[in-house]
Parts: sequence; C-alpha cells; structure tokens
Amino acid sequence: MTGVSSGLIVQPHTVEETPVLRVTDVRKAFGDQLALDGASLDVYEGEVVAILGPSGSGKSTLVRCIDQLETIDGGAMFLDGELLGYEEFRGHLRPRTDAGVQHQRRRMSMVFQQFNLFPHWTVLRNITEAPVKVHGLSPAEARARALELLEQVGLSDKADAYPRHLSGGQQQRVAIARSVAVQPRILLFDEPTSALDPELVGEVLQAMKALAAVGHTMVVVTHEMAFAREVADRCVFMAEGRVIEDRPADDFFADPSSERLRAFLARSA
Ligand code: ADP
Ligand code: MG
Repeated sequence: MTGVSSGLIVQPHTVEETPVLRVTDVRKAFGDQLALDGASLDVYEGEVVAILGPSGSGKSTLVRCIDQLETIDGGAMFLDGELLGYEEFRGHLRPRTDAGVQHQRRRMSMVFQQFNLFPHWTVLRNITEAPVKVHGLSPAEARARALELLEQVGLSDKADAYPRHLSGGQQQRVAIARSVAVQPRILLFDEPTSALDPELVGEVLQAMKALAAVGHTMVVVTHEMAFAREVADRCVFMAEGRVIEDRPADDFFADPSSERLRAFLARSA
C-alpha cells in the first residue's frame, strides 16, 4: 500500500493474485502543473473499473501514462507483474527502448474519444490490419475474429462498409472492435462517448457492456454515471491527480465516504 493520499479507501482484494494492472504512486507533471500526484490503482483479471472525477483531475493523464503515451515522473506501473517502461540491465533499471515500449504497449489497447478509423479501408480491414501485420495472425483467423467481434458490437452487416458510411456511434463501435481484436490484456477507454451526439451514446455503451460481459478487463474513464453504476465492478474517484475513493460500484454510489465525492455525485445526478 502506498499511503500517499490521505482518505484513500483501499479495497482489500481477498484473492492472492497478481493484478493485471498495478499503478503505484504515479506522479506526472507538465511543467509546473502536477497532473498526477501519487495515483494508485490495481485492476484484476476480468474487472471493469470506472474512473470518474472532475475535469482536470488527471483521468486522461492516468490512462495515457498506463498506455505509455506519456512518461511518468515517479512511481511505477506493472502489467501482469512486469514493470512498464523499464527493463533490467546489468543489475540496474534503465528505460526501455522505443521498440521495448512498443512491445509492452501491444498488450493493451486504448479507445479514445476520436475513433480515427482509416477512411480508405473497409470496417473489416480496419479491424484485421493490426492482428495480421503486428500480431502475426493469419488473414483467415483475423477475419473470423473480426466478424465475431462485429457481431458482439452489433455491426455484423457492416464488415464491408467504409467508415464514411457509418454514424459516429457505429464508427466508435468499430474502433472498439479493433481494440479488442489484438486480444489485449487490458482495454483502456478515455471518454469513448463524449464526442458523440447524445442519441448515439447508448449503442456504444451497450457494445462496451457486451465486452464486459464476456470477461474483458477494462478501465473506463467516463462521465456516464448509469453505465458506471450498472457495468463497473469498481468505481474510482479522482481529484487533483489522486485516487481518493476506490470502491465496489454499489458502495461508491450508495455510500460515498468523502465530501468531495458526495458533492460530485450530487452535481452529476
Ligand atoms: P481529466 O482527463 O481528468 O480532465 P487531464 O489528465 O486531462 O484531466 O489533466 C490533468 C491536468 O494536467 C490538468 O490540469 C491539465 O491541464 C494538465 N495537462 C494534461 N495534459 C497536459 C499537457 N499535455 N500539457 C500541459 N498540461 C496538461
Ligand atoms: Mg480527460
């Protein structure tokens, strides 16, 4: 335990298992702006963890650090017990090379607000490209997996469509299928529905719910309280670069222990 943030409620995990993801006391500054001030989080196999908190509290920075899109200034992160970003060299730790970082990053997938599909590729090719080119699947295997994923996200009929023919919600569902297609150990989402028109949010949340139901390990930064309450196993509340509550979803909403979370929930209701 880190004991960094006063008021942190530590969730005892009774099972003796290595978390898929462990974030310990991570600090990250941009100039003199401290975006993460000792953030800690464990995520276990099959868990869905929602990250909530006010704008500027460090949610995006946290998932970007996990995905190694940002380097950290302190603390440590582990994927399946393996230290992220560093490797042992002659008895010391040294930063990984870019190739070494990429190798670790392949075991996670991030879904952003902006889905960034390749416009000149079909839906199917958008999903199969990385599994074939980066992960070494045969085209037939990649295709079979992609079609299965398209069914899970409710887009079986869109395999041969081009992104421009899809709504934003459909494109985001393709992006989600693309992220899952590489069989990551953990899926990270940073406000995947915030760029969508309100009427398209539900279908994307539904697709994420379907992935949660088949046991994917997920960390979801979201403002969607109903989704967090219904789908997440645990909810984490961030403020000022720290995790200040980390509770089973039911307790989080029914019995928030900090005044800040109470105020946040009251504002978001
Ligand atoms: P959230 O996602 O919770 O809204 P962020 O992680 O985006 O919060 O931001 C946390 C803090 O770090 C904010 O004060 C933000 O202005 C700052 N920050 C985030 N990214 C950058 C950046 N690339 N350069 C400078 N400051 C940043
Ligand atoms: Mg953000």
